[in-house]
Amino acid sequence: MDEDILRRGRRQMEYFDTIKRHDYEQISVIQNQKAKLFAIDVIHDTTRGPAVGGTRFMKYPNEEEAIRDALKLSRGMTYKSAAAGLDCGGGKTVIMEIDGMDRTLALKTLGRYIEHLQGRRYTGRDLGVSTEDIDFMRTETRWVADETPAGVGDLSEATAFGVYQGIKACLAESYGNDSLKDRHISVQGVGEVGYWVVKYAIEDGAKVTISDIHPKAIEKAAKAFPITVVKPEEIYGVNGDIFSPCAIGGIVCSETIPRLRCRIIAGSANNVLATEADGTALFQRGILYAPDYVINSGALIQWWYRQKTYDVKNKRNPREAISDLYPVIRNILRESREKKLAPAIVADRYAEGQLKKGKTYREFHWGYEK
Ligand code: NAD
Repeated sequence: MDEDILRRGRRQMEYFDTIKRHDYEQISVIQNQKAKLFAIDVIHDTTRGPAVGGTRFMKYPNEEEAIRDALKLSRGMTYKSAAAGLDCGGGKTVIMEIDGMDRTLALKTLGRYIEHLQGRRYTGRDLGVSTEDIDFMRTETRWVADETPAGVGDLSEATAFGVYQGIKACLAESYGNDSLKDRHISVQGVGEVGYWVVKYAIEDGAKVTISDIHPKAIEKAAKAFPITVVKPEEIYGVNGDIFSPCAIGGIVCSETIPRLRCRIIAGSANNVLATEADGTALFQRGILYAPDYVINSGALIQWWYRQKTYDVKNKRNPREAISDLYPVIRNILRESREKKLAPAIVADRYAEGQLKKGKTYREFHWGYEK
């Protein structure tokens, strides 16, 4: 018992260290016991602009894990916005899925919370949140993305289009030719994004192997495309050119790296590397890695150029802007090769440089702009 209290105390101290080290702006707990809502909203950084980032609805083993996830994901959004050169910052909300909760009331409560931030925070769908859920939030707030064709469009498809650009950039670096024709790609997870990644790969002449834990997702993809299906654990050992993780984070780790038989890792999943050391281990094994928050920024880019809530200087065609991920990723990989540094480290430096070039949104919003 004493040991347990000590362990929890130590972990909580770690959180405060993380919060200070990475300069988090605001962390809030949104609770409504009637709805059984327990959510954490994190605004990591608004130097460049409003804290943008989706809302995730998931079963977590405990509150600590939910906070850990929100901290990590919101910081990833800051880096993603900065690397994409957009005038926004990073935030994230996680809702703990609790048995017997009143989902509608929970989402409306959260919507009200987002509304009270008056645009300093902007959210949308993330894992476990449907368009219907967003509709409930939208009854309470205007700071939530509308993914209808009249709104910002299908953001998962935009993400997949960006992943496709990233895959081509990796192929160009690795083989000197960016065509997917006759290349073998294995896709982990064929949900909202993975399905479209498969589509782009097939259209380009690739051979595709997939895995998923959801039979319905497999059925949908197998009906639409000529693909090979393997069991979830087998995906790591597929002998091919590209491994595209489009499911969950943390799957590239000390346990899976020795099993990989690909030359490239390029997919949409956030926080793919379990640790920074795993990025270095991949680099040492000669496996090219397209940094997650760069390659999966298509949704954010499309949202930014199609939304009408914030002013956008230098308006661009979203497709063209997403296509720019190709040269951005090529540059990261080139620098990684030249400086003998893992691509994830090069990407962090690039994003941090972009952050320093940031606007004064943060100061303006807090009312202490000089
Ligand atoms: P999704 O829930 O629609 O799809 C994920 C799929 O992965 C599901 O079909 C699920 O059954 C499957 N899956 C889960 N665990 C698995 C496992 N261990 N092995 C194989 N399959 C597994 O989610 P999505 O919107 O497609 O997002 C996929 C990933 O991309 C997530 O990590 C998400 O955070 C990230 N991402 C998505 C977007 C977007 O626009 N949707 C943007 C940026 C990043």
